[in-house]
Amino acid sequence: MTKIGDIKDETKSAGVIVKVVAIKEKEYESERGKGTYFYGIIGDETGTLPFTAWVLPSTVRVGDVVELKNCSVRKYNERLRLYVDSRSEVILRPEDVMEVKRTYRDYKVRSLNLNDSYVSVTGLITQVSRSTYEKDGIQKEVISGQFTDDTGTVRISSFGPELKDGMKVQISGARVQEYRGRLRLSINENSAIAGADFPTPEVPLYRISEVDRGISGIEVTGICVAVGDRSGLTMRCSQCRRRVDDGSCEEHPDAEKTLDLYATFTLEDGTASIQCNTGKDVTSTLTGISVDGKEFNQVEIESVHSGIKNKLLGRPFLVRGEASVTDQGTSLRAESIVEIDVETLKRIRAAMRMGID
Ligand SMILES: [Zn+2]
Repeated sequence: MTKIGDIKDETKSAGVIVKVVAIKEKEYESERGKGTYFYGIIGDETGTLPFTAWVLPSTVRVGDVVELKNCSVRKYNERLRLYVDSRSEVILRPEDVMEVKRTYRDYKVRSLNLNDSYVSVTGLITQVSRSTYEKDGIQKEVISGQFTDDTGTVRISSFGPELKDGMKVQISGARVQEYRGRLRLSINENSAIAGADFPTPEVPLYRISEVDRGISGIEVTGICVAVGDRSGLTMRCSQCRRRVDDGSCEEHPDAEKTLDLYATFTLEDGTASIQCNTGKDVTSTLTGISVDGKEFNQVEIESVHSGIKNKLLGRPFLVRGEASVTDQGTSLRAESIVEIDVETLKRIRAAMRMGID
C-alpha cells in the first residue's frame, strides 16, 4: 500500500487505504447514456489527494475508510488526482480508524479559483466588522473583513476564528466561494489560523488582460476608448438600486426613487480592454458634478452626459477597483480613478513590459 504523501507522480497502478474526506456526486451524459460519477478528497495520516471515481459502491460516505486497489494517478488541472475506474477494487474497512493530515495548496489571491475549494493563503486582514445571523433559532456571529496579499484583495468571512484589523495571518483550510461574480474566502473552526510576517502589501498593477477573476484592490491603467450612452444621471429604486428611469420599480412600486450619477466606459491598455463603471461618489469627484438635493431638467441631464464624456474620452487613467466576472463578461467597479499624463502611462507600460511591476 502506498501512502498519500508518497504519491509524487502519475502511475497506472496505485493501491491506498484512505479515509473519504469529501465526496460529491455528479451526473454525466455519454454516447452510452446517462451515468453518475463521484469526486472529492481522500486522505491518510500523510496528506490528502483529490479523486474521481467512475465506479464506487453507493454506500461510501464521508468518514469511511476504504481500500482502493488498482487505481491510476494522473494530472488534472496541474494537480495529481486518483482515479477509480472499472478495473479498480474498492473494499470498505468499517473497523478502521484513521486520522487524516489535511494539506492545502498555497494560493495567492490572484490564483484563487473554484476548482480548488480549500486552500492555504497568507495575507493582511483589514476593515473588520461584525454582524449576527440566525441559524436554527440561535443567534450566531460572523466576522467579515478584507483579505489582502501582494496580488489583490478578497472579502473574508469567519464563522469561528477571531479576525482583527491589521492582523497578518496564514490560514490553512480557507474555503473559496463566489458571490455575484466575486471571489471570497470563508473560514470556520476547522480552519487553522496563525500569525505571519511579511511586508504590508502594496496595491498591485495589472495588465487588463490579466484581470480574469473577481478580486478587488487592484489597479489598471489605460486610455478611455468609449463612454457608455447611459452614463450620467439616472433614477434608482431606493430599495434595490435598479434603474427606474421610466416609472417605478416593478418589485418595490412604493419605494422612493433617488437620483444617481454614474458612468460606464471602456478602458484599453494594449493587452485588452475592460468595461469600467463608477458610482455616484467617484463620478462626482471626477466630474465635479454633485447631485445630492438637486433637481435637473432635461437640458441639464444631457449636459451631464456630455460633461462626463468630455472628462473621460481619449484620456489616460489609473483606475483602482473591484473586478467581477459574470456571464456578461469581466467588469471593473472603480473605487478611484485618477487621470494621468501620457508620459506616466508610457513609463508604466514600459516598466510592465520589463517585468519590474
Ligand atoms: Zn426596487
